[in-house]
Amino acid sequence: MLDIVIKTFVFIFGAVVGSFINVCIYRMPLGKSVVWPGSHCPLCEKRIPWYDNIPFLSYIMLSGKCRFCRKKISPLYLMVELLSAIIFLVFFNRYGLSYNLFYYLAFVCLLMIATFIDIPHRIIPDEISIGGMILGFILNTARGFNLHPFAFNPRPAIDSFLGIIIGGGIIYFTGVLFDLIYFKLLKKPPIQGETESMGGGDVKLLAMIGAFLGWEKALFTFFIAPFFGAAIGILNLLIKKDHTIPYGPFLSLAAFLSIIWADKIIALILLR
Ligand SMILES: [Zn+2]
Repeated sequence: MLDIVIKTFVFIFGAVVGSFINVCIYRMPLGKSVVWPGSHCPLCEKRIPWYDNIPFLSYIMLSGKCRFCRKKISPLYLMVELLSAIIFLVFFNRYGLSYNLFYYLAFVCLLMIATFIDIPHRIIPDEISIGGMILGFILNTARGFNLHPFAFNPRPAIDSFLGIIIGGGIIYFTGVLFDLIYFKLLKKPPIQGETESMGGGDVKLLAMIGAFLGWEKALFTFFIAPFFGAAIGILNLLIKKDHTIPYGPFLSLAAFLSIIWADKIIALILLR
């Protein structure tokens, strides 16, 4: 019984964090503060009272419309709350109440914000990528004090630092190599005025992923992301006749899966 109460609380807490993630997704690309003022309807700008801001319930009660202007509010908001709630519950079941729970939830929240901003806006805010990189490094350095109570273990901090350098580096140099072959050797014209195939945002994002997951999993993320990218890219090309897709969401999805499966797969490859 207590177990159900605790898990319900974790689920609801995840939804509440999800609604803050929504605020970040909506406001960060506009350059607005994420803490002040309180929630407003994005369409009529009216302040949303607290009783209309309850995760899931408010959306269902108001049937997805603003109380004041009656315009439709994107179901994406509901989806993000639900996704966040589910991830909180899954990670709670996996890690229990621990440092790792806090650590991986912070990381996944950053990935969610990056993903849902990158899809419509094709940018990843530096607050998320560079801010996340610094946070990942600090949290790993702190882990060095956790392992041995009387001595600082530098290993997690070193692994995080290598994750930043190798994660960011591999995307950067892949981009340089691609541009060299595509534009210089094959002399293809630039695509829609773009001269870089990999945006700087992706470099910073994988550096951030490396800061949290270390260099091995950053490489793992780098190598599995293209599979998702290719699948969606082909669909996109068939449906929309559009050949440019944001790459951040695939890196984020791959990083998310790395948390769960990378250890097993890396162990399999290296026969450890
Ligand atoms: Zn409204």
